[in-house]
Amino acid sequence: KNLNGSSPVHPALAGKTPEEVVKKYLQKVKSPPEEDCTICMEPLGGPSGYKGPGVGPVSKAESVGRLTQCGHQYHFQCLVAMYNNGNKDGSLQCPTCKTIYGVKTGNQPAGKMEYHVIPHSLPGHPDCKSIRIIYNIPPGIQGPEHPNPGKPFTARGFPRHCYLPDSEKGRKVLRLLLVAWDRRLIFSVGTSSTTGESDTVIWNEVHHKTEFGSNLTGHGFPDPGHLDNVLEELRAQGITEEDALVEK
Ligand SMILES: [Zn+2]
Ligand SMILES: [Zn+2]
Repeated sequence: KNLNGSSPVHPALAGKTPEEVVKKYLQKVKSPPEEDCTICMEPLGGPSGYKGPGVGPVSKAESVGRLTQCGHQYHFQCLVAMYNNGNKDGSLQCPTCKTIYGVKTGNQPAGKMEYHVIPHSLPGHPDCKSIRIIYNIPPGIQGPEHPNPGKPFTARGFPRHCYLPDSEKGRKVLRLLLVAWDRRLIFSVGTSSTTGESDTVIWNEVHHKTEFGSNLTGHGFPDPGHLDNVLEELRAQGITEEDALVEK
């Protein structure tokens, strides 16, 4: 299993233009509603307000699309521009309701994720052992998917140790975290909310417990809702139990 977190582009994407990717998730809209597109804030009945590069002209019949699952409508060109601004990984996320189309990936730098069971219990989980996850990401140079391509980024506090109870639910969270790591969604490059340092490796939306025997930082145990919260955060990234089964 590839756990070095450096497999960005899915082979199925080879040769797919951004327009083709976006079109896959859209239904045609014959008469657009009298509403504004929430990406460009211009009426859906008129042209897209997007004025940047990389988006080709579009016929009137195709100027507005409805996302197939959630039903939200946007200018086609606005969705293409949004796609071009992201990872271009073949996935699209509705900016209104956050429904994910395709498989969302992130921009986590290359590194290593390891885990093992340790024979001690976490506070609040007296009946089981614990899982220790060790993340290691070295500093490096930002790629095109990062905020400042070509500039170095720092990586503070690695290896970072994180803990889960070795219970059924804890192991389920671990399986989904392994999927999140493969999809480069555990860390990102940006500005640290604790230190204010920019161009550094930061956590990305999925909370981890970094304290073992105590809870002095608020990132420890006991925390009865923690595993359910993490499952919810992973779901928001498009990762559910089915993903863990498929990727085995
Ligand atoms: Zn628009
Ligand atoms: Zn939506």
